[in-house]
Amino acid sequence: MINKELFSTEPDTSKVRVTDSFWKNRMEIVRTKVLPYEWEALNDRIEGASTSHAVENFKIAAELTKKGLVGKNDKGTTKTEGAQAVDTGEGGFKGFVFQDSDIAKWLEAIAYTLTWHKDSDLEKTADEVIDLVCAAQQEDGYLDTFYIINGIDKKWTDLKNNHELYCFGHMLEAAVAYYQATGKDKLLNAMKKYADYIDSMFGPEAEKRHGYPGHEEAELALVKLYNVTKEEKYLNLAKYFIDERGKEPNYFTEECKERGEKIPTIEDLAYHQAHKPVREQEAAIGHAVRAVYLYTAMADVAKLTEDKGLMDACERLWKDVTRRQMYITGSIGSSHLGEAFTFDYDLPNDAVYGETCAAIGLAFFAKRMLGIAPKGEYGDVLEKVLYNGILSGISLDGTRFFYVNPLEVVPYKNHMDARFRHVKTERQKWFGCACCPPNIARITADLGSYISSSNDKAFYTHLPIGADSEATIAGVKVEVSVTGNYPWDGDIEVKINPETPVSFTYGIRIPSWCDSFTAEFNGEKLNASLNDGYLLVNREFKKGDVLKLSLSMETKIIEADSRVHADHGKITVMRGPVVYCLEEADNGRDLYLLSLDADASFKVSKETELGGINALYTTGYREVKKEDDRLYRPAGAIEFEKTKLKFIPYYAWNNRGEGEMTVWVQRKS
Ligand SMILES: [Zn+2]
Repeated sequence: MINKELFSTEPDTSKVRVTDSFWKNRMEIVRTKVLPYEWEALNDRIEGASTSHAVENFKIAAELTKKGLVGKNDKGTTKTEGAQAVDTGEGGFKGFVFQDSDIAKWLEAIAYTLTWHKDSDLEKTADEVIDLVCAAQQEDGYLDTFYIINGIDKKWTDLKNNHELYCFGHMLEAAVAYYQATGKDKLLNAMKKYADYIDSMFGPEAEKRHGYPGHEEAELALVKLYNVTKEEKYLNLAKYFIDERGKEPNYFTEECKERGEKIPTIEDLAYHQAHKPVREQEAAIGHAVRAVYLYTAMADVAKLTEDKGLMDACERLWKDVTRRQMYITGSIGSSHLGEAFTFDYDLPNDAVYGETCAAIGLAFFAKRMLGIAPKGEYGDVLEKVLYNGILSGISLDGTRFFYVNPLEVVPYKNHMDARFRHVKTERQKWFGCACCPPNIARITADLGSYISSSNDKAFYTHLPIGADSEATIAGVKVEVSVTGNYPWDGDIEVKINPETPVSFTYGIRIPSWCDSFTAEFNGEKLNASLNDGYLLVNREFKKGDVLKLSLSMETKIIEADSRVHADHGKITVMRGPVVYCLEEADNGRDLYLLSLDADASFKVSKETELGGINALYTTGYREVKKEDDRLYRPAGAIEFEKTKLKFIPYYAWNNRGEGEMTVWVQRKS
């Protein structure tokens, strides 16, 4: 059943050591600042931050379980509107129904951290949390604090809204990661037990429920459980959840009827990607995080089960997301109504949503697609979203977070106008719905698994991030070390050191933004071909081989497709994979009056501010304001004054206080 042909390449994170000057520092910030800070937040010990109650919920659930009072302390409030926090008072569940997942993602981030830094304090805290989580588990394996506290007899009655399978998936991901990082199997065994229980409840058999997660996540987690246990029932359950989604009779509709509630509209089902079977879905639709978590699992299952139909659906949805519904920063899901995709080319910069989690989910999807076939476009999107739409979600010091990632902010507008109120003008200490902060911690801590992948015949570098990797290729241990100063310059050195001479293919992605490059192998010019965006070197490698690659990295002025209304008449600036923006701190107020020639030239300046950046300087224009007591008047000539413009990397915006920011600038000529 397992597909050997499609099973292309796999990363082995335990054998990747990130050394990169740009990312290593961020990973250290996650270890030393973000994870301890998040622990305080999850325990509600940060003054002025939104409350979490996530640890407290587990404590209450564990206590009820210990005292045998589960089901006897029914608070009677298991009905939610899905995306609203509940507060059932003293001793009751507080927060969102998916609050457990914040703990899970935080645990998972610790697990990844432990693979590159044996931090005994973090491990000790994680072990204690695992004991607490396991103490809340029920005899049959069930583990969801919302229902354990508020009414266990109601479990599985509202898959559409109440996130049980989502929380299960996140805790399962944490369990697998923690086991792989530490060899400790307490949480893995607990979650395996829960998975077995879920497998006994859901499936094609007549006596089982024919449901699936209201928020996709369990699917991709079950694939991880399959990967670590090799027990096919877990892969089959993931596949079942994927294939059952959107089938008639629609499970969510039937479930609503059973609860005596109004049946969902087609839009409501589409929000959950459950309006039709996934293989028939033409376009990315609905809640963006749900969608990309689903597509990630679809790609996993397509690869492992040799499912061409599912793979075609993944490619179709990939193209729809990345060619018609993605911001230049890699952010997706443009509407705050439903945190959702809307329609093709609808990418407003100010009323944007662009949830950090959705960007992270797109990175998951890209990684899975790269695992199937190393194609340049997957790597291009992966690096775009990593350096821009994901990184913008966290402050440089690791203690403030964006949930929504705007590409244009005028603070007074956001404060005055309810239509923009979802867009925060400054990163927040925490959120009542705090899905994003632990998500950014776990992907940063796990960066090593995104850089490269290998199989028995090949090694691919998808991102030229500094790292030492080890792989076994054709039975020979091979070390691959990448060094450079990405994303600030394009000179990359790759040292390839096999234990004994061995023939294989080494591939490195040439980014689509790069117009020209030169390559040398052991000091001699290399004339190698590009294949799907990868430079491929097929040869016998021996100890001490060195590939030097020089990517031309010019500052580029970019325009959007004419169909993107929001960017019409505007341009923006990129250098390498980094998207730039203008901030008030550098360029004054009223950024909307600034304009730029499309052939402007830039000075690149290495600066120590904002954690060390390349700032870009150029000359642009500021339109002279015409203000009098007439709201409207006959059109007259426009005057411009030349002005110096300073662009900084978009990810680094809002680290110097509140102010205006824009990614897109008026095009002067
Ligand atoms: Zn989120």
